[in-house]
Amino acid sequence: MLNIPGKQFYVNLDRCTNCRACELACHEENGFRGVRVLTVGPRKCLFVPIFTEECTSCKHLVDRGLEPPCAATCFTKAIRFGDKAEIAKILEKPRLYGTAYSY
Ligand code: SF4
Ligand code: SF4
Repeated sequence: MLNIPGKQFYVNLDRCTNCRACELACHEENGFRGVRVLTVGPRKCLFVPIFTEECTSCKHLVDRGLEPPCAATCFTKAIRFGDKAEIAKILEKPRLYGTAYSY
C-alpha cells in the first residue's frame, strides 16, 4: 500500500456486509486483490476488510482525481477514501459501538 500525501482510507467494520464488491472491483481494475474481506468469529461474525501487500492505493487513479474502486463500489461506505481532513471529521464523530480503523 502506498501512502498518498494528504489522503487516507477509513474502514468501518460495522458497515461491512461481506458482499465482496471491493475485492472484485480491485481485481477488475488491477488484476489482483488489494483488499480481502476476512470473516472473524465462529458465531457472531465480524467482516474485516484488510488491505494486502499488493494494494497500490490505486495511485494511478487518485492522481487523475478518481476514487479507488474498492471505496467507490462499497455501497455501505464501509471503505472510504478521501482527504485526511475529511476522514478526521468522520473519526471525530461519536461512535456507539463497533470498530473502525484508518490509515
Ligand atoms: S467493505 Fe464494502 S464492498 Fe467490501 S465486502 Fe464490505 S460492504 Fe462489501
Ligand atoms: S486502493 Fe486500489 S489497489 Fe488498493 S484495494 Fe483498493 S482498489 Fe485495490
